[in-house]
Amino acid sequence: MPINLHFPTFIYCEPLQKAGLVRFNDELATECDQLRAFDDSGRKWSESNYPGGYTSYASMNQLHKFSSTFETLERRLNRHIRAYSKKLDFDLRGREVYMTDCWVNMMPPGTTHSLHLHPLSFISGSYYVQTPLGCPGIKFEDPRLDRFMAAPPRKAKRAPENETFVTYPAEAGNVILFESWLRHEVPANQVPENRISISFNYAWS
Ligand code: FE
Repeated sequence: MPINLHFPTFIYCEPLQKAGLVRFNDELATECDQLRAFDDSGRKWSESNYPGGYTSYASMNQLHKFSSTFETLERRLNRHIRAYSKKLDFDLRGREVYMTDCWVNMMPPGTTHSLHLHPLSFISGSYYVQTPLGCPGIKFEDPRLDRFMAAPPRKAKRAPENETFVTYPAEAGNVILFESWLRHEVPANQVPENRISISFNYAWS
């Protein structure tokens, strides 16, 4: 067919590593609990900005510089970032790609993370530490949504690339990467257990 695909949006999803995920996630979950207990200003910030949950986004957001466990996570993520960046054909001009921010998100039942993007970086992502059965995934929105103008709705049966929203299930041990301008959200957690993820941003310079 004389139709070509242009301007794609790539989303990367892959296990962090082949083995040892359960143990590594146990270590991370323990540190996340310790962090929440320690981080008074983060808990206070979360009260008004992340109701019911805890995020270190506004308080402890360079965890890879403070904890050897998070530093290990950073090191293991770098391979995935390189693979993703390669797929995007970025010419990095010999510069380095590096993690700028890394923070924890804990979502007990009822907590929501509304639509947002990640300014001031070019690749962002999440790593899943604890994902109880039935907890929400990460939902991405078609970045052209505000330009569809008079477009009709999509058919009930449609190709995956023509979806307006796509949800990746949260699975402990998985890495999700996306370009930082891609808006996403996490719907309310409706299961009784805590959902824990680690979010991060990468820059190049
Ligand atoms: Fe995010």
